[in-house]
Amino acid sequence: MVEKVIPIRLDEGKGLTPSIPGQLIAANTSTKDTRGRPLRDLRISVTDRCNFRCTYCMPKEIFDKDYPYLSHSDLLSFEEITRLTTIFATLGVEKIRLTGGEPLLRKNLEVLVEMLSKIRTVAGKPLDLTLTTNGSILRKKAAALKAAGLHRLTISLDGLNDDIFKKMNDVDFPVTDVLDGIAAAQEAGFTNLKVNMVVKKGTNDQEIIGMAKHFKGSGVTLRFIEFMDVGSSNGWDMSQVLPSQEVANRINAIFPIEPIEANYPGEVAQRWRYVDGSGEIGFISSVTQTFCHECTRARISTDGQLYLCLFANEGFDFKTLLRSDRSDLEIANAIMSTWSARNDHYSEIRGSNTAGSNSSRKVEMSYIGG
Ligand code: SF4
Repeated sequence: MVEKVIPIRLDEGKGLTPSIPGQLIAANTSTKDTRGRPLRDLRISVTDRCNFRCTYCMPKEIFDKDYPYLSHSDLLSFEEITRLTTIFATLGVEKIRLTGGEPLLRKNLEVLVEMLSKIRTVAGKPLDLTLTTNGSILRKKAAALKAAGLHRLTISLDGLNDDIFKKMNDVDFPVTDVLDGIAAAQEAGFTNLKVNMVVKKGTNDQEIIGMAKHFKGSGVTLRFIEFMDVGSSNGWDMSQVLPSQEVANRINAIFPIEPIEANYPGEVAQRWRYVDGSGEIGFISSVTQTFCHECTRARISTDGQLYLCLFANEGFDFKTLLRSDRSDLEIANAIMSTWSARNDHYSEIRGSNTAGSNSSRKVEMSYIGG
């Protein structure tokens, strides 16, 4: 039984106040954190709501009807998200991932996608606009998202067997509807689709081979994610982690696979391919093969708090800045000063006695996005 702990979200969404240097500098892409990592990747949570209750993210014992979800006025508006993203683009951000909760629950999300599709990187290119969804309403939304300018989609699917899938999403939602969402995305013209499966040892690991068989040769890249101790409420325990190497061994025993080069530095998933040329699979191994040394990701919560790590326990309040008379240059300087002081590398110190290694109250993934 999961102990009921009200997850971290500082009342009124007020994080730390970002510092704005007295002497402003021009926005630039060369800001690095204390570990030499640039800022290239921004994840934006557009809602803290979801229609699933995945046990590793939003266990329903905690995220029930009494949970203090954000009110609409707390949320950043599409205009505020677009302004903030435009500022981040001047600092070197090239990739945006829209997340949640379940982002497709945010009304008229395609309007935001269209606004973001007009932003350019410092090199004058469109931002790489991506979104992660549980696929439950993709059939309804895929075509509009594509038309609005969304580039890529990642769909979460933790099994093909309905009973096991329902055990993972805990809301009785059928696999067929998610598979139909994937088909709708392909029909809408999305290519290079990714499917993410969180593997919880003893709960759905028996689905690994079935999932591999299903997506092998389909053009969809299946990625296996190690169960992580995100947030403060999913009852994580190392005994429920099936190391990616073990997953790779199981697949390799039936469908020979080999590792391939990353697409770019800091890519989260390790890329592998089927030796017979029928496609790729990936592994996201935050527990057993950490990748903090190349982490260029920042996260904006649904109510405008900047988090520098998925496992952080405090954020920086940019909503107040956005709603003040601060200029874009002042906000850019606030981001640069916040990022340059960043030292996060939680996965490297998980479980060790180093400071920040096992901070008890970590921010919830459903609030800042995966
Ligand atoms: S643990 Fe934090 S610093 Fe490390 S890769 Fe994940 S988000 Fe980045």
